[in-house]
Amino acid sequence: MRRLMLSCALAATAAWAVAPAPATAAPRATPEPVADAVTAKLLGSADAANARAAGAERTRISVTRTNGRWAFGTAVLLADRSADAHPTGSVFLARADAKGWTVAFDGEAAFGDLATASPLVSETEKAVFTTPVAPLLAGGDFRTGMALPFAVGQTWTLTSGPHGWGGAAAPWSSVDLAGGDQVVRAARAGTAYTMCTGWIRVIHDRGYSTDYYHLWNSISVNGAGVAQGTVLGNTGTDVTCGGSASGRHVHFGLRQNSAYVPIAGHGIGKWDFVSGAAAYQGGARHGSAYAGGGGGVYNYGALGFNQGVVDANGGGTLTRRSGPGTGYGALGSVADGATVTISCSANGTSHTGRYGTTALWDRLSDGSWVSDAYLSTGVNGPINGWC
Ligand SMILES: [Zn+2]
Repeated sequence: MRRLMLSCALAATAAWAVAPAPATAAPRATPEPVADAVTAKLLGSADAANARAAGAERTRISVTRTNGRWAFGTAVLLADRSADAHPTGSVFLARADAKGWTVAFDGEAAFGDLATASPLVSETEKAVFTTPVAPLLAGGDFRTGMALPFAVGQTWTLTSGPHGWGGAAAPWSSVDLAGGDQVVRAARAGTAYTMCTGWIRVIHDRGYSTDYYHLWNSISVNGAGVAQGTVLGNTGTDVTCGGSASGRHVHFGLRQNSAYVPIAGHGIGKWDFVSGAAAYQGGARHGSAYAGGGGGVYNYGALGFNQGVVDANGGGTLTRRSGPGTGYGALGSVADGATVTISCSANGTSHTGRYGTTALWDRLSDGSWVSDAYLSTGVNGPINGWC
């Protein structure tokens, strides 16, 4: 069960709607430098205010692989060295033909299409770039399969709740984290890219990617496969490509389908992030436990795609029953915050939990049943089929 968030869905739809089709330059005998084509697309993709203010000197295009006809690299729009600003950008793939360069950014459908045909893209990358995309937000699937971006079993401080990648502006895709051993790790397996010194992007399956900024001692990567937990660097205050950092932390952002998306509602490390009334407020919830800004978040690791976290909506325990309803006998209980694995689902008696009312019940891996009203699964509906 999960909360519907119409406002977030609308924000993401708007961001998606303005993303342009892959840029194709005017016909010419000799293609322009690929960096020019990438810059044009980068500036066209930025929000209008940035696009007006930014010139080519405000961008950093790095062609990291090329064979003349194909090019691969990173395209970054630098940010002012001020608070409430962070650089933005994409991994790009470009192909030249008689009409010029066709450029696509990571997360766009065209990126996967080009990757399939490109000799510059490794088999590991192709496997990631071409996985089926999860429904975007309003599709109702908020499962990420991600851990928090540090070692499982550590507790770090959520130094700021959900805010924008750039700062206060929506979507509130990002949170700030610091503490523990200060070692920042990949939230989920994927392929990793150095966007800028101190800024790593990991592209995951299902259309997701994650960004990590302000890192010290960040690894230098150009498509290396990473596992969940692979070291990316240390928390820091690096602002090589712009922005500011008042104390060491990682600015951790969530993207889907080539745009930042609200982190709220997404399950990461078995926590569901929650937006506040304003940017940087809000926090995260694990079962009935809540951590606001300045609170500690324990990294429970990734929630499986067929798992839920018990949220008894106030603490205590959830009764397990022999069938899908309160008319069936009790078989014991499961604690608030516990992880359960769901075999299948069926409709039964209706109950109201934190996220609303549902008649859905889930049969757990031990054969007992619990009401889906008291599970956080990331989906409104059965996550492992009907019984
Ligand atoms: Zn931040």
